[in-house]
Amino acid sequence: MSDRDALRERRRVLLLFAISVLPPFLLLVALGLVALRNDEAALTYVEQERARQAAEKARGRLLAALERAEASVFAAFTPSAIEALEAGGPQAEATARALRDEHPLAAALFVLDGGGHVLWPAPDLPFLDPVGVPVPNERFAVSEGQDFRRLAELQALYDRAVVDQRGGQNERAARALRVVCEDPEATPTLAARAAFRLAECLLAQGRQEEARRAYARAAAAEEAVRDDELGRPLRSEAREAIVRLANEAGRREEAVRALNEFAQALLGGGLRGDLREDEWFAAVARAAALARGLEEGELARRLGQRSEQLREVLRWTRLVEREAEALLLQALRSPGEPRTHVVAGRPPTLLSCKARGEDGRPRLIGFRMDPERLARDVLTPVCAELSTNEGATVAVLDAGGEVRAHGAADEAVDLAGGTAVKLEPLPWEVRAVRPTAALEQARRNRLLLYGSLIVLSLASALVGAAATIRYVSRSLELARMKSDFLSNITHELKTPLTSIKMYGEMIAAGRLRSDEKRQEYASHIVREGDRLQKLIENVLDFARQDSGQHDYVLAEEDVADTVREAIDLFRLSAKARGFDLYVDLPPVGALPPVDLDRDAIVRSVLNLLSNAVKYSTDRRYIKVTVRREDRALIAVAVEDRGIGIAAEDLDKIFERFYRAGDELTRGVSGAGLGLALVDHIVRAHHGQIQVESQRGQGSVFTILLPIVEDYREQWPPPEDPDPAQEEEATERAGSA
Ligand code: ADP
Repeated sequence: MSDRDALRERRRVLLLFAISVLPPFLLLVALGLVALRNDEAALTYVEQERARQAAEKARGRLLAALERAEASVFAAFTPSAIEALEAGGPQAEATARALRDEHPLAAALFVLDGGGHVLWPAPDLPFLDPVGVPVPNERFAVSEGQDFRRLAELQALYDRAVVDQRGGQNERAARALRVVCEDPEATPTLAARAAFRLAECLLAQGRQEEARRAYARAAAAEEAVRDDELGRPLRSEAREAIVRLANEAGRREEAVRALNEFAQALLGGGLRGDLREDEWFAAVARAAALARGLEEGELARRLGQRSEQLREVLRWTRLVEREAEALLLQALRSPGEPRTHVVAGRPPTLLSCKARGEDGRPRLIGFRMDPERLARDVLTPVCAELSTNEGATVAVLDAGGEVRAHGAADEAVDLAGGTAVKLEPLPWEVRAVRPTAALEQARRNRLLLYGSLIVLSLASALVGAAATIRYVSRSLELARMKSDFLSNITHELKTPLTSIKMYGEMIAAGRLRSDEKRQEYASHIVREGDRLQKLIENVLDFARQDSGQHDYVLAEEDVADTVREAIDLFRLSAKARGFDLYVDLPPVGALPPVDLDRDAIVRSVLNLLSNAVKYSTDRRYIKVTVRREDRALIAVAVEDRGIGIAAEDLDKIFERFYRAGDELTRGVSGAGLGLALVDHIVRAHHGQIQVESQRGQGSVFTILLPIVEDYREQWPPPEDPDPAQEEEATERAGSA
């Protein structure tokens, strides 16, 4: 088979392999990847489902805790407490305070009647309801028996004075106004208005002291009076003006007294009928500013505090009023049960209400929940308990995503990737987060599993490919070597046969004149016959080995003696070819015996010797040595100074049919069997053959044979007292 054929054959095998192995392998990888993805999705789904279940469970627990907390507040709303609240006043304040102190969850309380009217909080307001402000312009509120004409004259006088004042005629206006306010026929309202304007005109003329007196007169009016043009509350403004005048005049004591009176009237309800809500807050703010100006800090603080307090109460009352209808509806749906009600806003207000119906007086009671307290005292403990028991961190978040309560061990709670459910009726949500470590571990395990499966199948495919290619290469090589062998052997058989035939014919023809010539031809025939015989023996040996029929007959023999037999057989032909043969053998009996088949070992040594001849060119040197190698081995070395063997061929030359592929050896006849036979024979003797060689330098083949076990320690055996004398024989043969 030619090299090109071999290459083609190898390519074909590779292609076949690729077609049969690669598609299933790629399919396997694709399937692995798909399975990995599906697995990942399934894992994530399972984790999410677990988190959702934990969140659901947490919701149930949290709402139960909320209901318990609400119920405990409502238990404190006893009938007597409700009654006290309804009654209002300081008693109600105290009751509300006590209840709030006991249940901090309730930040503010409320009580509605069956119609939704607010019974508590019932603020005792020091100002007018914004709706109930009186019309300022009741010009002729005349009482019975009054002189109507005079009153009309006074009114006309007043009207003219107003025009004068507007025109800057303050003096004329002041004269007329003084008349009006001092006339007993003037109504108190008209008199008070006139006094107030008089004070303004006097002030414009720089007559402070008189102005102060006029203001005092306006302030002393028995009822609330409003300005007829702008509806200003005159009594309140007059009091304020008095304070300011005294202060400006540097009479501090008087100013402080006047301010105290003014503040008392504002806070205690002395001006209750005068001011609207907004006017009251503005007046209080101005009074506080005056107090600060006069360094009356305590008074300023009291004014500020009261105004803040009232603002708060008003806000709370309005909220309850606004929500009353919705609260009632909700309470009606489940009477007697606590209900959480959320008022939208930022942040939303949380109300809890409950319907009560003792003694036929339906009431709706409730409170505003403090969201901080709710989160801290009610929800956090539940979250903490769940987080330790459910294998998931539970947290409550508000609409803005801020964490209100959580059960994480440390403050930095990581809620990414959790599952949330709404915590209705609270405007918040519960979120449960499973620890990521478990999921990560599972993910890593899957990846490892699929990864190693793919790598494993890839590796097995590659190993398969390599093994196939190797096997095929070897088969091809063997086929090549066998075909080489056939052509070699035919050639080897033919060459000596042709010679024999030729010399035989010449002798048979009887034309040879001298006996010498005849003898020479006959010896040619004998030599060629020998060669033929050797070759045939090798082939037969090989055939026997191949069919496993070869049986070696082992007996204790002297190696030196055996080798000498081979040398004797070889000596002539070596001499004929001009080789220097050196032999270094110990005398017979000097070395311990070896179990060997004499014929086989002789054949082996002859094979090595004939190779030494075949593979030598100009330096015709052969040396045979037999020596004890070590305790257990005897070495037979055949050395030549021939062409040597390339390093890469050293371990192959013992294979059957192998011939080192070199131009020099190509010219040498052979079948690649000799060394394979030697190797086989030596192995059968439990020995081994070694070779040392260098290109162009020569080779040494060494056969190592094991010494019979019993003689390894001592040779000769002890009963033989006379040790053989060592003899060294070096012969020189054929130096011609
Ligand atoms: P053959 O001699 O018939 O080719 P062998 O099995 O005896 O087969 O030897 C195998 C190969 O080993 C030879 O072809 C030759 O290349 C190489 N070889 C063997 N002995 C020697 C030697 N003494 N010197 C150089 N090459 C050798």
